[in-house]
Amino acid sequence: MSQKALEILNSLYGYSSFRGHQAEIIEHVSAGNNALVLMPTGGGKSLCYQIPSLIRDGVGVIISPLIALMQDQVDAMQQLGVQAAFLNSSLSHSEQNLIEQQLLAGQIDLLYIAPERLIQSYTLDLLDRCKLALFAIDEAHCVAQWGHDFRSDYLSLSLLHERFPHIPRIALTATADVRTRKEIIERLSLTDASAYISGFDRPNIRYAIANKTTAKKQLLDFLKQRKSEAGIVYCLSRKKVEDTAGWLTQQGFTALPYHAGLPAQLRQTHQSRFLREDGVIIVATIAFGMGIDKPDVRFVAHLDLPKSIEAYYQETGRAGRDGQPADAWMVYGLQDVVRLQQMAQGSDGSEQFKRAERHKLDAMLGLCEVTSCRRKVLLNYFADQAPSECGNCDNCQIPPQTWDATEAAQKLLSSVYRTGQRFGAMHVMDVLQGKETEKVLQHHHHQLSTFGIGKDIHEAQWRSLIRQLVVRGLLRVDIEGYSALQLTDACRPVLKGVQSLFLRIEEIKAPSAKKAGSKSARKAQISPEDQELWDELRECRKMLADEFNVPPYVIFHDATLKEMLDTLPTSEAELLSLTGVGESKLEKYGGDFIDILRRHAGVS
Ligand code: ADP
Ligand code: ZN
Repeated sequence: MSQKALEILNSLYGYSSFRGHQAEIIEHVSAGNNALVLMPTGGGKSLCYQIPSLIRDGVGVIISPLIALMQDQVDAMQQLGVQAAFLNSSLSHSEQNLIEQQLLAGQIDLLYIAPERLIQSYTLDLLDRCKLALFAIDEAHCVAQWGHDFRSDYLSLSLLHERFPHIPRIALTATADVRTRKEIIERLSLTDASAYISGFDRPNIRYAIANKTTAKKQLLDFLKQRKSEAGIVYCLSRKKVEDTAGWLTQQGFTALPYHAGLPAQLRQTHQSRFLREDGVIIVATIAFGMGIDKPDVRFVAHLDLPKSIEAYYQETGRAGRDGQPADAWMVYGLQDVVRLQQMAQGSDGSEQFKRAERHKLDAMLGLCEVTSCRRKVLLNYFADQAPSECGNCDNCQIPPQTWDATEAAQKLLSSVYRTGQRFGAMHVMDVLQGKETEKVLQHHHHQLSTFGIGKDIHEAQWRSLIRQLVVRGLLRVDIEGYSALQLTDACRPVLKGVQSLFLRIEEIKAPSAKKAGSKSARKAQISPEDQELWDELRECRKMLADEFNVPPYVIFHDATLKEMLDTLPTSEAELLSLTGVGESKLEKYGGDFIDILRRHAGVS
């Protein structure tokens, strides 16, 4: 490993050693080679292009899809003392001119740019006249049509290797199954690139998925234990985003809505409050999140089912980038399943595309319904190795009970059959439970042999049974026909009694303190005697953050503050030895923290 890279890591970033493949990647790219990097969120992708950009002559050009976040990325680099800039439509003419001059004079180390800007001939001409260190293509999965974040702008990036054949290219992503990987390699002409694939596991994230009963109350129960923590709540529709945010606000949370229908200015304000204030909850559609690298997001909650494991993994991956314990929590119900099945079926793609969509949905539903370790399902989906039990998901911590649902399923299926396969779940349940509703009487369904044969089972359990049968393909929901339940061929063996059915008993689970173990213990606790100093350190960080106009975590991460608490450094040299304290940060903020720590130690 080149001495230079290690030196930059130590003195600039304040980190003592490289993680995972970082060292190899940096060496490879610094030597002028191409690379494809797959690393989970929080794995440390940025260093893989930042350090080679600094080592190599010229400017490193980083292509990133979201201009709204470039300012933060540039701010963070400038805090480290690196010459960084961005080019996008938010700049005035004179600001842009200045950056162009600095570029031509070789005064910029890192340039962030959106793909649509990069491919303009004006920009390409400008880059022709600059010394270039490398191109980094961030969120590279956006180039893949198979993926879920496809952006047509990214397709044009194939021009990079034609126009700048001698400039190394490094493509980075956190979500890419085998097929997406292949597409990235083809479209960005990376066949000669070395691929660095890291394990996908995010061991600090606890996964929990439950049956949706009273979604709001379930969410509230989950959030009650997480007051003043930052998190994201995903909803499918804009309306639900607004409703949920409003409702959470009434419940005393700081919850802000975010969706594509809000004015750009308001979206920007909410995003920046989420980044800059402590303990803000963003309630959002999937429009929110890409490129957000806030390290201390403590939970991601889903009130609706994402349509694929890729989407779920990417969205939940925004939690816990700092490596501290975090939660991925979701509730889902029959309606989610039906809606997604309908979307997969009704999309106007080719037959092959539809088949792919169905396949992805089935995998997602498999994750929901599994009664064994969820992490294993996730990792296997990405063709990654996994132990059979992770100890940090709901199923590992509280193994689900199953029940013999064969007889209940037979009752249900025959009720569906006897009512003519023309009625929805509600009516079928009414018949099973022997309710003499208007509709039941009108159709003489109280005279059926199945009327009232399901009184012994609670409505919630019938609902869950219906959902599980739909997921397993034993029942289907006819959307065009008023959501009527219908039998499929696959249900015959169960109806005839040649196949039995064991299903999970659903209840809302919270991990017991004992079972949760150390790995998943809620955030590393601050002991009561440390609390005062901790608050003081955080206040100091907030004050500096306001002064420099950056989010608090850009000053120091929580982990660095905790190290201060544990080691109580009172000299600059001691402070410099902490993780995340480099020379530039020491100079800018060291004094303020040392003052506090000295006062605390009684040294003056
Ligand atoms: P990614 O882009 O892969 O999601 P980042 O590059 O944002 O991840 O890195 C996640 C966090 O880990 C950042 O705060 C980063 O500074 C930190 N980090 C990266 N590499 C190291 C390392 N070698 N040692 C300590 N911290 C690191
Ligand atoms: Zn598990």
